[in-house]
Amino acid sequence: MLFRSVSQSRYSRPLQEHGAINLAQGFPNFPIDPLLQEQLLRVAQENVHQYAPLQGLPLLRQKISDLVKQQYGRSIESSEVLITAGATQGIFTTIQALVFPGEEVLILDPSYDCYEAPVHLAGARAVRIPLTETFEPDWERIHDNISDNTKLLIINNPHNPSGKVWSESDFVALEALMQRYPKLLLLSDEVYEFIAYEKGHQSIHQRSAIKDRAIIVSSFGKTFHITGWKIGYLVCPSKLMDEILKVHQFLVFCVNSVAQAALASYLDLVDVKLLGPFYQQKRDFFRAGLKDSRFELLPSEGSYFQVAKFTEISAKSDVEFCRELTINHGVAAIPISVFNADAKDQGIIRFCFAKTNETLQQAIDKLCKI
Ligand code: PMP
Repeated sequence: MLFRSVSQSRYSRPLQEHGAINLAQGFPNFPIDPLLQEQLLRVAQENVHQYAPLQGLPLLRQKISDLVKQQYGRSIESSEVLITAGATQGIFTTIQALVFPGEEVLILDPSYDCYEAPVHLAGARAVRIPLTETFEPDWERIHDNISDNTKLLIINNPHNPSGKVWSESDFVALEALMQRYPKLLLLSDEVYEFIAYEKGHQSIHQRSAIKDRAIIVSSFGKTFHITGWKIGYLVCPSKLMDEILKVHQFLVFCVNSVAQAALASYLDLVDVKLLGPFYQQKRDFFRAGLKDSRFELLPSEGSYFQVAKFTEISAKSDVEFCRELTINHGVAAIPISVFNADAKDQGIIRFCFAKTNETLQQAIDKLCKI
């Protein structure tokens, strides 16, 4: 067996059978911005229907460079931007291009499920290292797991599934690690970069000591509520881009031209700074609704996820608890153990609050009865 094909969606399947409210999968259930819809309809009538350039539409790449400059103060050439078919393809392509048989890739658990498979497919070894109990990087353990074969460290901030956002001390520790191991590369999954709350989001774009050894991945799916469009981008230095393009060319050649054109115009009309407050209102609504429930809500500092401990309610495994939650109580959530290589179960489940307030209220009503 090349890799485990355990998918989180397996845990959301029973919800269809039982008509449960879906707080399991991470996608919004509200309409997209009408302005984006307008751009899509408008550009669809223009001459944008043939292959786009390999690396993406120049205008869209330019807008992304502008966005990176405006958000993080980093100047990048548009040749350092690659438009990808979602962050997933950016991650897959990066790993296929840069990691070779016999090498090792460090993944911090609990981790999103699209990291490990491409490592195995590259003939490399995925080294899964647990985060601390409170979902922070365990720098000592990370150091201990670095060998001569270690090629890449994958980080994800803001973090799915925990909703944790890195602190300054984590970045300082990361810089020390990268300095100590000069050949180590970094893949920074920042798909929730614009969904951060009180603490704000610091990006690897802002860390001058390591940004030149980093591939930074983002997703328009998360930023503009268009997960089904499957479009995102990565930013990396030219010497890494040259390698990544060799895989990108034969994997997809180029990404959906209409979506690229629509996003290029939309980026002029939208303010990504509004996304954090938009989701913060949803997070606060959901948390306030569950305040008197028997769930213990852990901090949600970023992303659109809220993790909750259920150990006061049940001694069952998190997988079994989620099954019962769906079938008996009509709310679907994801057990955190499925994000862990060793299936470690902390009695914690993940809710997605990227939903209308009406859906959230219906879920709150059900969850408060448990
Ligand atoms: N990374 C993380 C942490 C995610 O949560 C997701 C989507 N759930 C992705 C990557 C994939 O993003 P995309 O849909 O743009 O491929």
